Amino acid sequence: MKRMKGDGMPKPRPNLSGEGWPARRRAMVRTQIVKRGVDDPRVLAAMERVPREEFVPREEIDQACDDCPLPISCDQTISQPFTVAYMAAALNLRGTERVLEIGTGCGYGAAVLAELAAEVHTIERWPQLAHDARSRLKRLGYQNVHVHLGDGAQGLSEFAPYDAICVTAGAETLPPAYQRQLSLGGRLVIPIGDPGQGRQMLKYTRRQDYFDLENLGNFAFVPLIGEG
Ligand code: SAH
Repeated sequence: MKRMKGDGMPKPRPNLSGEGWPARRRAMVRTQIVKRGVDDPRVLAAMERVPREEFVPREEIDQACDDCPLPISCDQTISQPFTVAYMAAALNLRGTERVLEIGTGCGYGAAVLAELAAEVHTIERWPQLAHDARSRLKRLGYQNVHVHLGDGAQGLSEFAPYDAICVTAGAETLPPAYQRQLSLGGRLVIPIGDPGQGRQMLKYTRRQDYFDLENLGNFAFVPLIGEG
């Protein structure tokens, strides 16, 4: 007898066991990231490799590779996969850089940056998020990420200069400390603007005595707290 679709076949169940995640991440990269124009092969490989499902809360795990940000604790979010990939690509990382990330959250973006650069410093203002991200990144084997607890609105002068700075919370204006903490040729990517109207992702590149500025378009972000 020929079987009809759905005829007594077991129903697909949400995959909570960890099986099938590499395939889901591959699909995420193909359908959300490559399709929207990110083509840096190192960024695509990093997005495929970092286990995003390890960074989301248990109750969100089945949505881990969905095309959206997801809630984490302390009223914060894990950024949308495309946003993480797009910012990482804009930073033009080649593997030798020291990077600063503002806003660790769950640590996902820091892990992606750690795949692409030599050393990552990331700073988070919520103690619980910083603590959880630190232990998660350690458990996953990321030895080149340093999680700092504190206010990153003035950067992190202790380890400056940085070859790249990635600000993952939206600011209303550009905090001047970030530009000062860039090395010559260093890149800063930051969402800036009025939260009501969406933020413009801006990229600054430090030259000898000026900064190149590019506008990379509109993105939504949680706010950067304690600016200025
Ligand atoms: N990089 C994260 C994004 C987290 S959302 C990811 O990969 O998903 C942005 C984070 O920035 C939040 O966790 C928020 O608490 C943090 N944040 C906001 N203002 C900050 C500040 N002044 N200093 C440090 N962290 C800040």
